[in-house]
Amino acid sequence: MSANWAKQFSEYPLVTKSPDSATRVVHVGDIAIGAGAFVVMAGPCSVESERQLLETAEAVAKAGAVILRGGAFKPRSSPYAFQGLGVEGLKILAKARRETGLAIVTEVLSECDVDAVAEYADIMQIGSRNMENVALLESVGRCGRPVLLKRGMVATLEDLLAAAECIAAKGNLDIMLCERGIRTFGTATRNTFDIAAVPVLKEVSKLPVIVDPSHACGVRSLVPVLARAGAVVGADGMIVEVHPDPKKALSDGEQSLLFDQFEAMMRDLAQYVPMALRSESCCASMAGGRD
Ligand code: PEP
Ligand code: MN
Repeated sequence: MSANWAKQFSEYPLVTKSPDSATRVVHVGDIAIGAGAFVVMAGPCSVESERQLLETAEAVAKAGAVILRGGAFKPRSSPYAFQGLGVEGLKILAKARRETGLAIVTEVLSECDVDAVAEYADIMQIGSRNMENVALLESVGRCGRPVLLKRGMVATLEDLLAAAECIAAKGNLDIMLCERGIRTFGTATRNTFDIAAVPVLKEVSKLPVIVDPSHACGVRSLVPVLARAGAVVGADGMIVEVHPDPKKALSDGEQSLLFDQFEAMMRDLAQYVPMALRSESCCASMAGGRD
């Protein structure tokens, strides 16, 4: 690690590399994240109905995803927009896990919901709007589940590692760092994908790094090429939005892939990186929350 980086990140000893520290592999059931194979988490932005989620879960599992994403508690910019199905959404996610064997990643918005979300989720997602919510970070640090920590919209990598350290300091080192685009002066895309963040984080941190090409650009047609970019610069996996009918999506339809686009993207990625596959025993061995 360069001397500059070593100094810059020295305040976060639990999540940065030291000469004797191995890279952390995060285990979710029998899925190993950070062990060399590219792990794909896919699904809709929001859980909208049982039918929408199950259909999507089956399609993404068939195309090679190993983890299902879907927001039940949604952080929307407008108080009038769809806020998610809450606990009902968590129950639908659990049903999709039962039916497909996919593990579940879903966002927890508030400290008050940590126990409820941890009951159902395999991975707790901290969204970019909450990256600096220390009470929430500490609470997921104690929840006993792996955490997907998204970079805040205006956060430096130092800020991201400081947030990860807050989780780790409460005893949870099963953390994945997620680059999901940051705010810049560019307006052609929703955010600016900070591609250099991936190799920097891989160099300075011991934690797996996940890219989110969907929120990074906000435009469906750009998602596959950004996913490929993330994979070839060394990300350990990605989280990506897929919807059966994006025009009707209740959130983030413009950036959601159709099923056939997702499948084509997965075939493309397999040419560049080894893809994490599902094992036959995944359903049986899922660490998983409540059914
Ligand atoms: C999401 O994953 O749907 C989401 C809200 O992401 P972010 O926190 O990166 O905006
Ligand atoms: Mn979204």
